[in-house]
Amino acid sequence: MTDADSAAVAVPALQARSDVERTTYIPHMGDHSFAMAAAMRHHGMPAAVLPPTDDRSLALGLAACGGRECLPAFLALGDILKLTRDAGFDPARSAFFFPGSCGPCRFGHYTALLRDLLEERGLGDVRLISPSAANAFHGFGHRPRPLRQLAWQGLIAVDLLDRLRLETRPYAQERALAEEAYQAGLRDVMEAVEQGGGGRLVRALRSAVPRFTGIPRTTDELRPLVGIVGEIYVRWNEHANRGLVRQVEELGGEVLLSSMGEFVHFSTYRLRAVARASGDWPALARGALTGAWQWLAERRLARVVEHALRRPDEAGSGFVVRAVTPFYDATLGTEAVLSMGRAIDYGRMGAHGILNVLPFSCMPGMVVGGMAPRIRRDLGQLPWLDIPYDAQKETNIRTRLEAFMYQVHQFRARTGRDPLRRHSRLRV
Ligand code: SF4
Repeated sequence: MTDADSAAVAVPALQARSDVERTTYIPHMGDHSFAMAAAMRHHGMPAAVLPPTDDRSLALGLAACGGRECLPAFLALGDILKLTRDAGFDPARSAFFFPGSCGPCRFGHYTALLRDLLEERGLGDVRLISPSAANAFHGFGHRPRPLRQLAWQGLIAVDLLDRLRLETRPYAQERALAEEAYQAGLRDVMEAVEQGGGGRLVRALRSAVPRFTGIPRTTDELRPLVGIVGEIYVRWNEHANRGLVRQVEELGGEVLLSSMGEFVHFSTYRLRAVARASGDWPALARGALTGAWQWLAERRLARVVEHALRRPDEAGSGFVVRAVTPFYDATLGTEAVLSMGRAIDYGRMGAHGILNVLPFSCMPGMVVGGMAPRIRRDLGQLPWLDIPYDAQKETNIRTRLEAFMYQVHQFRARTGRDPLRRHSRLRV
C-alpha cells in the first residue's frame, strides 16, 4: 500500500499519556510487525501483534467494507474486527496501529474507514495510531525519535534474517531446518529489540548466521533467480499472496523479495526531495540526517551477516528513481516507482524472471503492469508475470506460475545468465 508524497500533511500521532496504559495491536503484515511491537514495548507501550490473517479475517473485512476497497484493506480491517469480537476485548484499553498516507491511491482513506467501522460498532473509545508515510513515519510515541530508530533496527534485522532464509531454504536437505533457524533468529532478534537493540541486536544476528550456514545442502548448483516486486502488503503477507515464495521454491526457483526497508528508505528519500523542491532547508537537513542515520544503522547490522549472503544488496532509492526516470515521472511517487525500479534492479542483478504482485484493481500495480513491456524490453525480454490477487483464493495462480517458471528456466538456458554475487557492485 501507500505513497510517500507531500510532507505538508498533518500527521496523526500518539499524544495522550494514557496510551501507555493501552495495549496497541499491530496487524500481522509480515514478521516486521513483531519488531514494531517489541520496539514499542521497550519504550513502555504495551503492544502485541494480531493473530495471523486467515479466511475469517477476509470474511469479516468483506462484510464490513463496501466492496471497492483493496484486498489489503479487507484483510487488515478483518484482522482488527476479529479481535474486537473477542469476549475480553476492552476498547478503552486498546489501540490499533494502522499507518496512513495522504494518497494518492486509496490507502489514504483507510484510517478514516477504520475509525468509521469502529464507531459504528460502538467501539469509539479505541485509539488509532497512524504514523504517516508522508513524513517518513516520524512522530509517534512519547519518544518518537528513539522509538523510530529502534523499530528501524528491528525491521532491518528481520529483512536480513529473511534474506538468509531465502538463500538457504531452496538448497536445504530439510526445508524445515531453514524455517527453524529463521524462527530461532526471529525470537532472538525480538528479544534484543525489546531490550533496546544496538549491540544486543548485533549479537542476535551474529548467532543466527551459523544456524543457517550449518544446514546441509542438497547441491551447490544454483537455481534460477526470481525477483518478487509489487504491493507491499500482498508481498509480505503469506495469506494474501497464497504462499507465493514457497510456491516458486517448489517449482525450482530461488526468490529475491523486495525488502520492507526499501519503503522506509524511499519515504525518507521523498521527504528530502519534497523539502528540496519547496526550499524547506530545515526539513531537508532533517531528512538528510535521518537518511544517513538509517544507512549507518543498516550497515552496522548488515556487516554481521553479509559474509553469509550470496546475493548483492538492493540498490538504494537514488538508483530506483534514476532507473524509472526515462519512462516515468518519479515525483509521482507511490509504489509504482519502487516496483518498477526494483524490477530493473533485479534485472541488472541477473534475475531470470520478475513476479509483480498486486491486489485486484491496485492503482500503482496497474501502472507497473502497463509499463512492464518497456521494462522487459530493456532487460532482454526477461520473463514477467503480473499476479493480481482478489478475494477468490486465486485458484488459477499455480497454473500460471508453472508456465512462468518454465519460461524462467528457458530464459536461463538461452542466455546463460549468471546472477551477480555479493560485492560485485556497491550500493548506489
Ligand atoms: S491501490 Fe494498491 S497501493 Fe493503494 S491502497 Fe490499494 S492495494 Fe495499496
